[in-house]
Amino acid sequence: MEWQPEAEKKLSRSPSFIRKKIRTMVEAEASSQGALLVTVKHLLDCREKFFAKQKTSRESLPGYSLETCLGSDGCPNNLIDDYQLIEQLETLLASRDLPTFFRKKVTGPPKFHHQFSIVIAGCPNACSRPQIADLGIIGVSQPRISEEACSGCGICVENCPDQAITLGKDGLSPTLSTPPCLSCGRCIVVCPTETIIESTRGFRLLVGGKLGRHPQLGQELPGIYSARETLTMAKKCLDIFQQHNQYGERFGEVLKHLEPTNLLPIK
Ligand code: SF4
Ligand code: SF4
Ligand code: SF4
Repeated sequence: MEWQPEAEKKLSRSPSFIRKKIRTMVEAEASSQGALLVTVKHLLDCREKFFAKQKTSRESLPGYSLETCLGSDGCPNNLIDDYQLIEQLETLLASRDLPTFFRKKVTGPPKFHHQFSIVIAGCPNACSRPQIADLGIIGVSQPRISEEACSGCGICVENCPDQAITLGKDGLSPTLSTPPCLSCGRCIVVCPTETIIESTRGFRLLVGGKLGRHPQLGQELPGIYSARETLTMAKKCLDIFQQHNQYGERFGEVLKHLEPTNLLPIK
């Protein structure tokens, strides 16, 4: 559909990651009004309807959000084999009656940003932005060096996005460095001799990430967690969030008033 230059200019000022969605919504609005050209008025009408809808949907907020990346839709980088964890997390979140919890804590109706968010990414590329969730979960495959002889092909070094592999002076004997290794597992996949193999598959966990007025990235907990340990940790995070929350503040704020060790030793 054709756009008036003023409308196109206004659209270009919206955040790039939602621009495509806004374009679709505005074109639907223009079509519903029988227009063939999108004007600024269609943009404004659409915005008004969007805010009205948001206000209504706030009244039935579930009190949590659970999001994943597109890993399970066939992304070749995906490192999560078992999506049972997501169903278990959903059950856990739904069992906490968070709408009632927020109604008691928050002055006025709870808003989207009050909700407890869990975001899952299938690999360290982290497309779903787990770094800004209350609990971020990242699928990982941690490498280790096996007893198998290295051929010195160098493919692992070329494929490591984090320059975490070095070969010895003889061009053999790979060494892995953590950091900067993020356990993306690429070197494991490409090594033709199985000199680099998987030692652990699981999840890295980040806690307390958020945007808003005082943004901060989630703090990474040490180690790699199994699905069972991740679920235990999610329960623990929710326990802490619900026990220590004062006015509906985000998990990152709650954690600032607690000793980090309160969260850690679950392994
Ligand atoms: S986070 Fe990884 S698995 Fe998920 S969509 Fe991005 S690249 Fe694919
Ligand atoms: S797992 Fe990924 S980041 Fe770590 S050494 Fe292998 S390729 Fe590099
Ligand atoms: S560890 Fe594997 S991929 Fe890396 S140089 Fe040796 S044989 Fe090649």
